Formats: sequence, C-alpha cells, structure tokens
Amino acid sequence: MKCPVCGKIEDKVIDSRLAKDNTVIRRRRQCLGCLKRFTTYERIEEVLPYVIKKDGRREAFDRRKIVEGMLRACEKRPVSVDRIEAVADSIEQDLMEKSEKEISVSYIGERIMEALQNMDDVAYVRFASVYRSFRDIDEFIREIRELYELKETRTDQNLEHGSIDDNQGSQYSP
Ligand SMILES: [Zn+2]
Repeated sequence: MKCPVCGKIEDKVIDSRLAKDNTVIRRRRQCLGCLKRFTTYERIEEVLPYVIKKDGRREAFDRRKIVEGMLRACEKRPVSVDRIEAVADSIEQDLMEKSEKEISVSYIGERIMEALQNMDDVAYVRFASVYRSFRDIDEFIREIRELYELKETRTDQNLEHGSIDDNQGSQYSP
C-alpha cells in the first residue's frame, strides 16, 4: 500500500482488528520508508444493491426470490426452468452493472413482468395480478382486457392481410 506521506510501497501491518459489526477489517500499517503510520480498511465488495420494499424496508438482493416468483407464475405453463433462470441471471447482471446502492422492488418487478410478457401470457397476468395486488382489482381486469385488445388488434390485422391468427383459442376463461 502506497504510503500517504512518502509514497513508498513497502509497509508492515502492526495491528489488525475487526470493526463495524465484524464486516470491516481495520489495519494499522507502518511505512518501511519513513516509519509513518496509517490505517486501511478492508471490506467485502457489495456489488448488488439493497432492495427497497413497498413498505420502505430494505433487504439484501435475493436472486432466489425472482426464480420463486416466476416459477409460481409459470406453474403448469410451457416455460422451462432454464428460461426462468436465464431471466434471473439477466436481472442480476443488470443490477451489478448499474452498481447502485439501492433499488426499488418495483424495478425488479417490472423487469420480471417484461420478461414474462414475452414468454407466456398466462404467466404474465398471474404475476402481474399478484405483483400489483396492492393497487386494486380493476388493475387486474384492465390488464387482461388490454391483453385481449392486443390480441384482437393482431387478429384484425392478420385477417386484413388474409393470414391465419396463430393465437386462436385463448387460454383465459372470462
Ligand atoms: Zn512513508
């Protein structure tokens, strides 16, 4: 460690102790050049942000929660565990790259919904309904209606172009 006084690299550790709830090691060092003493702190690099929940509490990021939430939404749906794991990986990677200290739980929720929307409509609505349940039931109904409308628009367009709608036989019960 470069000495803050003379710039020499060589030093010796003269004292080492745990600090801050045992998450930091504080080292007292002595420069072998000018004999000045200085302190360094060593801590675990926290690359993943804390998640701020809807009630304001913070908790450590937990990749398993993403996987569990998606598994529940994808129950009996043709979505492989591999694809779910891949989504969790990509969200985790994204958070590492953002390297922010805190992230709102809704950011993660939106990312999951985005992924599910491209994977399976039923899983998407299931997840969205649970995830957004803190709002109201209208939200859920609106969500389904929007999906229907999207499909209807698609069908109309397909008919205009004389092609067959591959989304025939909607999975939803009214
Ligand atoms: Zn020095």
